[in-house]
Amino acid sequence: MAYQVLARKWRPQRFSEVVGQQHVTRTLQNAIKESRIGHAYLFVGSRGIGKTTGARIFAKALNCEHPATDADGSIEPCCECPTCHEIAGGSCLDVLEIDGASHNGVEDVRQIRDNVQYTPSNGRRYKVYIIDEVHMLSPQAWNALLKTLEEPPPHVKFLFATTEPHKILPTILSRCQRFDLKRIPVPLIVARLHEIATAEKIFVHDSALTIIARAAEGGMRDAQSIFDQMIAFCGGNDEGSPISESDVIDVFGLVSHSELTHLVEAILQNDAGALISAVHNLADKGRNLECLYADILLYGRNLMVFGHVSDPRAMLELNDAEFADLQQLAAVATPSVVQRLVQGLLAGDSNIRYTLNKRIYIESTLLRVMRDAHAVQVDDLITQLRILQEKGTLPAVDTAPAPSPPAAPVQSTPPAAAAPSPAPVAPKPEAPQTPESASPEPSAPPAPEAAAPEAAAPEEPQLTLVPDEAAPAAPEPDQQETSSSPDLWQQAEQDETVQGAVDLFGGKIIDVRAVQKD
Ligand SMILES: [Zn+2]
Repeated sequence: MAYQVLARKWRPQRFSEVVGQQHVTRTLQNAIKESRIGHAYLFVGSRGIGKTTGARIFAKALNCEHPATDADGSIEPCCECPTCHEIAGGSCLDVLEIDGASHNGVEDVRQIRDNVQYTPSNGRRYKVYIIDEVHMLSPQAWNALLKTLEEPPPHVKFLFATTEPHKILPTILSRCQRFDLKRIPVPLIVARLHEIATAEKIFVHDSALTIIARAAEGGMRDAQSIFDQMIAFCGGNDEGSPISESDVIDVFGLVSHSELTHLVEAILQNDAGALISAVHNLADKGRNLECLYADILLYGRNLMVFGHVSDPRAMLELNDAEFADLQQLAAVATPSVVQRLVQGLLAGDSNIRYTLNKRIYIESTLLRVMRDAHAVQVDDLITQLRILQEKGTLPAVDTAPAPSPPAAPVQSTPPAAAAPSPAPVAPKPEAPQTPESASPEPSAPPAPEAAAPEAAAPEEPQLTLVPDEAAPAAPEPDQQETSSSPDLWQQAEQDETVQGAVDLFGGKIIDVRAVQKD
């Protein structure tokens, strides 16, 4: 018999064999059991996690001649009747698998639409259309299918599968029951690979299976394909030399956990030399640098989780040795540094795919991210200053004037500043006062607060602040005003707060009324 790849040979044939998608299989089984079968189902999820497999098992269970009932009452296809065999072999005339990527036009859909009216052959119950990559269907094709999808004949079921549900029109989504398949956890993939290895009499270390499962990123088909490739490379038939972790690492250019720990340790210690030589060693060994970057990011994420969660074990998908490594690093890592590391790495994550020299990119990015993560943060400085201030060894920051020397305040002579358009006009505090009330005590305090918003929006330098109100309030007394102003200026200039504001604006605070008069 011709060789069949593991992914096909070990493709699940019953609901109970589907790994990690119980929330989907149970719903489908219950639907059959309670005769509540919808007319359109949409299976959503990344590649190789069981969308089409699930759809095919469902099609078998719908049409099986002798459906079996498990101990817990759930329905399973018998996998022995001619219908089950035909569906599994892809030769059943009533279960049509269509590739949506290549059959995406109106004509293809029209063909489906014409066929749905014919009842299934051989006394089968349902005609099932499994359309893969259904997001590739053109809008015209969807429109042609819309009516049939809404009210298909009772013997027709549509099972759609897609990796990109966001590309499907809402009108279609609302006509389907949607099932989101989950990324399969590493331990479940390892268990399944172990099962396959035992049945195929392949000798392999569990640590090697873990690396394979991790490289598959939650997809069972990818994991089985990688395992296939490893068997082709190493044999694995000899009990004396089983497939090992280092075999997998070498073949796929991956990075071992200990190498990764060494590198992350250098970053956490802010040791640029150790960091660069670690990257150099890995690049020299031919490691996949794109994977390396992703691995460092994942390691950082694991450290971050470790720093914040009391029982992180279940969230990390690590074996005992790896968990111990992480624990050791987490003990010396500062959570805020780790978080900045992760954020810095994330920012550069998308660029690494497009960069031509990945090695230099990784070196420079890791150096920058490391330096940034360890740099003194403004927040920390402010906290330190607050502590000093509370101890009484530092003057209050918010009342202290700007750093320019207070001994040399720039004299703001009102008439001289009249000519240019005075951008940062500060409200003259004494303006609203009537001429006779020369007492200046309410004048000084509002100066800093009023000046601040003015500085924030300097693009509108109109003189709208005070004079508008002052003009109607003080109708006639020009002479009196001029006589009182210099006094107020002198008083204001002696005021500490006003002094601070004057310094802040580089001495550009002027008497608004004086400008208007000129
Ligand atoms: Zn059957």
